[in-house]
Amino acid sequence: MSQLQRLVIASEQLNNDSILLTTSQQHYLRQVLRLQESDRFIAVDRTGRWLLSQLTESSDQATIIEELDGDTELPVAVKLIIAMPKQGMDDIVRHCTELGVTTIQPVISDRTILKPSLQKVERWQRIAEEAAEQSERRFVPQVLTPESFGSMLTQWTVNSQAIDPNPTLSANQDIHQLPVPKAYLCAARHDAPHLQYVLSQQRLMQSNGRPDMVVAIGPEGGWTPDEITRAIAHGFQIVSLGRRILRAVTAPTVALSIIASVVECDVVPSS
Ligand code: SAH
Repeated sequence: MSQLQRLVIASEQLNNDSILLTTSQQHYLRQVLRLQESDRFIAVDRTGRWLLSQLTESSDQATIIEELDGDTELPVAVKLIIAMPKQGMDDIVRHCTELGVTTIQPVISDRTILKPSLQKVERWQRIAEEAAEQSERRFVPQVLTPESFGSMLTQWTVNSQAIDPNPTLSANQDIHQLPVPKAYLCAARHDAPHLQYVLSQQRLMQSNGRPDMVVAIGPEGGWTPDEITRAIAHGFQIVSLGRRILRAVTAPTVALSIIASVVECDVVPSS
């Protein structure tokens, strides 16, 4: 069952217990994968359901057999802010999707050289979809359209202020267990605490909801001193990914790996 091919579908394709396959999905399932009538695959819908499905004699139809259990998502929602490197965005999107990222926000920073077209963003979204199928995610990460570093900061401030700063605690909760959003900006050559240390101190994984966590990675030339100052003023905490200088394409994978290992290590596996 776990080895079955996954295929992301749009909600419009669902009709009671059947799925209307697009031409490219039919081609992929029948010509590329060589599946035939009665062969099974798992349809992944946009609401995070896994639907065990079966091809029918009609090439554009599949029948839903049952909904499957299981959870492969991280216990926290992680937004990656990425100042787009000149090369390597495809790999960043692919690797971070495999590692569990929720949203990818490309940004144009002072030292960003790449100016992507709309087609590029659509391509990154398709890569996220393929990587989500391959890594058995329930949700496909959303790749947002690029925005400036300044508007990203403003949006972060608005979102984080939407959370009640003075929450009412129930008897067995302490303040560290509430879903307080956190924002980290990774900067090389800074005397900053390690991301893993900071995360383990904050016990994010024990919160009751799915807190938003934002992690920002700079371009090849790094963040400018002004960007770092502005990020701190907007509530970002500066963190390190270790003593070595990582390439701009390596750093997001390292950051997501650290986040995933800290938040997942604390989750007790269900028996
Ligand atoms: N050219 C810059 C480094 C840029 S690396 C320099 O020589 O200083 C690209 C991005 O990866 C950085 O902006 C930062 O976000 C991240 N990064 C790389 N190594 C890092 C480290 N050791 N700690 C924290 N962030 C790092």
